[in-house]
Amino acid sequence: MPELPEVEVVRRGLEKHLVGLHFTEVEVLDSRPLRRHVGGPASFVDQLVGRQVQAAVRRGKFLWLVLDDGAALTAHLGMSGQLLVHSGLEAEHFNHRHLRVRLRLEGSTVLHHVDQRMFGGLAVVDMVPTSDGFPGGCGSQLNAIPVTDTHVARDVLDPYLDKAQVIGRLQASSRAIKTQLLDQGVISGIGNIYADEALWAARIAGARPGSSLSKAKLKLLLQSTGEVMQRALAQGGTSFDALYVNTEGEAGYFARSLEVYGREGQPCSRCGRLLRKEVIGGRSHVRCPNCQRNKQG
Ligand SMILES: [Zn+2]
Repeated sequence: MPELPEVEVVRRGLEKHLVGLHFTEVEVLDSRPLRRHVGGPASFVDQLVGRQVQAAVRRGKFLWLVLDDGAALTAHLGMSGQLLVHSGLEAEHFNHRHLRVRLRLEGSTVLHHVDQRMFGGLAVVDMVPTSDGFPGGCGSQLNAIPVTDTHVARDVLDPYLDKAQVIGRLQASSRAIKTQLLDQGVISGIGNIYADEALWAARIAGARPGSSLSKAKLKLLLQSTGEVMQRALAQGGTSFDALYVNTEGEAGYFARSLEVYGREGQPCSRCGRLLRKEVIGGRSHVRCPNCQRNKQG
């Protein structure tokens, strides 16, 4: 499932190719990805045609296009959603067995929504002011967020994230630190891959309760999370299951740089001990039993 770096790569592609253009025609080939749009496919088409894309914005793993009437086209990638931008002959000849929605824009630009498993989807929704008065997310200075995304906390790369407040929340809870990292209402954008990578970098076992960790250790964890995401971003993200691609259809290369995720039974690159897999809160967790001990300061 795409996490913050992968969604940011997609956001940058949408920003580069779509901002300033108007939607001219929208074809819904499969209405299932529109199940979160109130009013059904006809309303979806009606609310998009003629609208101009003003910005491509992301908070955590959540993505939206700001439209010139103040609404937003939200795109949740889910497990397998892809937003591919094509133009010219390439756009005319594009076909895919999982193509769900074709959105034509000015010139010959076409945004194709491809989704195999359809856990995510598209919807046009209203925007509301942000609760803290700061910009809604990365990509726009507009103090607004889609009404359906207001439960999403700010992410670790967001300059308006209140890190002291997040650290206080993590420390106030006896839940496992890994479970808390995955809670999009505490801090957003982190999924199983980057949670495990950040915990390894900060030398913290994911099962440790947040309340057992010092403020300094939690600060280091947030810093490690940001660093691993920046490195992943520089390599186009992680295409672990081959479903994640950028708007040009290209995979990212960070999978080859992963230290723990998917590497159980292999040696830790720091100390040589074999990495171990366990389950925390129903999610797998891979850690080094030496570098990430369940009891340490
Ligand atoms: Zn180790």
